[in-house]
Amino acid sequence: MNVGYYAMCIFCKIVDGEIPSRKAYEDDTILAFYDINPQAPVHILVIPKEHIESVDEINSSNSACVAHIFEVIPKIAASAGLSNGYRVISNCKDDACQTVRHLHFHILGGTRMSEKMV
Ligand code: AMP
Ligand code: ZN
Repeated sequence: MNVGYYAMCIFCKIVDGEIPSRKAYEDDTILAFYDINPQAPVHILVIPKEHIESVDEINSSNSACVAHIFEVIPKIAASAGLSNGYRVISNCKDDACQTVRHLHFHILGGTRMSEKMV
């Protein structure tokens, strides 16, 4: 079982293969997979394998995986053909409508998006 597994968490279950996903990238510490309900032609989620609840819980002892996520995002975006740009979003808790309480970064692209962010 993955280190930091949280039994109630669907993204921990995806990391462990208990719930299937269409993977875009994987290494020892992070996983990227296609969103089940895409909101753009390309919609990929990037998560740390370790269960971190949200951006609010990033700290000096767990931030290495977050830095790694941002190093890998350009490679995932390039592999998905997003040569004209993309948007990276992380919803944090209630006001941002975070529905899955396992830190994730949405990569959205493949279309011209709205200038509005809220
Ligand atoms: P958020 O609202 O920022 O918490 O985003 C959670 C995202 O997870 C949503 O875009 C959902 O469509 C997506 N999602 C939920 N369950 C799954 C799943 N089993 N596989 C892929 N994406 C999922
Ligand atoms: Zn989790």
